[in-house]
Amino acid sequence: MIDFRSDTVTRPTKSMRSAMANAEVGDDVYGDDPTVNALEAMSAERFGFDAALFTASGTQANLLALMSHCERGDEYLCGQQAHNYKFEGGGAAVLGSIQPQPLMNQADGSLLLSDIEAAIKPDDVHFAQTRLLSLENTIGGKILPQSYLASAQTLAFNHGLKIHLDGARVANAAVGQGIEISDITQYFDSVSICLSKGLCAPVGSILLGDPFLIKKARRWRKMLGGGMRQAGIIAAAAQLAITEQVERLAEDHENAAYLANELAQIEAFEVDLSLVQTNMVFAKVLGELDVNTLVTQLKEKGILVTENTTLRLVLHRDVSRNDIKFFITTLKSLIK
Ligand SMILES: *Cc1c(COP(=O)(O)O)cnc(C)c1O
Repeated sequence: MIDFRSDTVTRPTKSMRSAMANAEVGDDVYGDDPTVNALEAMSAERFGFDAALFTASGTQANLLALMSHCERGDEYLCGQQAHNYKFEGGGAAVLGSIQPQPLMNQADGSLLLSDIEAAIKPDDVHFAQTRLLSLENTIGGKILPQSYLASAQTLAFNHGLKIHLDGARVANAAVGQGIEISDITQYFDSVSICLSKGLCAPVGSILLGDPFLIKKARRWRKMLGGGMRQAGIIAAAAQLAITEQVERLAEDHENAAYLANELAQIEAFEVDLSLVQTNMVFAKVLGELDVNTLVTQLKEKGILVTENTTLRLVLHRDVSRNDIKFFITTLKSLIK
């Protein structure tokens, strides 16, 4: 199967498999797993923080960040399209008693600074207390400009807010700009990073923050059932996600650009090439073409895509240039 549904479908590399088989382990709830400890120390160091926590998923890392920054009755500002608003089951509200205040995402994925400013509640008993601004980079495959991050950080600081980054794909944002991940994470009080997407680890995310925040997050993680025991088995693969897989993302970006160009030349599709900045391609389906039928027909040819009026195609290590060529040829013959 050629799987364009998500970069989460990537399988662990050979070196990950062997590192997992040979990982030194201990009970991580006791703080005894040397491989988890090494992963957390390395992540904190590389990404410019004083502490880090290995979590079961990106959803868990985001939830722990929200619950550690905010108390019951507090509020976080985020995008309407933010993963930690729209795609995490309302966890912050359900489990944290934290109110989301979603704001409209602009076409480039950003939130207008004036919208953020206008949404910050005054200190008044009628309102939830605004504590946190949460951004996402990349968002829908788009990169938030570094100058925007700097302005958002200043705005948050001036209003006494903390600032969190859902950096599930921050490695794509860094590689896409030819900068270090730490150049992006420097603007934030906390950051979550998915190691199980384009970076190919089988499981896990990292949450970064100061020691006080990470201590709180560790407590919440245990309460949520996320205290893992011999987690070094998966942390061993997670280490290699960081040390061996980051630069390789450039291939996915080149493949995305190639795919977007090919699709743009097919009449039935509309692709805004300016929005193809990392590993995602969105192709609007025009005219009479029935997407559901197309998706079913593609599946019969061994190609998986997410069903929607806009095709979302995600590039990753397990999709090669030849796979893309096969997809384009197949697509052209199907829509004829
Ligand atoms: C995938 C994703 C997450 C959540 O990660 P899971 O490991 O799937 O829980 C969070 N934020 C963004 C932007 C994501 O793409």
